[in-house]
Amino acid sequence: MTGPANSPLFRTYRDADRKWSAHVAACQHCGHEPGCPAGQPLFNRFAELQSAYLDALSRRDNSR
Ligand SMILES: [Zn+2]
Repeated sequence: MTGPANSPLFRTYRDADRKWSAHVAACQHCGHEPGCPAGQPLFNRFAELQSAYLDALSRRDNSR
């Protein structure tokens, strides 16, 4: 199967998701939103990649 789930973008997104989630689990200040200077760039990267990934998904759906 080929699709967005196997794309480099998805793997990069998952990697950013894991890093952000790991930070949230270890940090008292971060939760749904970043609450510390170390969490902010991790969250920004995660949000940026999530947006790019969802955008790629919706474009794929629209092209069917
Ligand atoms: Zn934090």
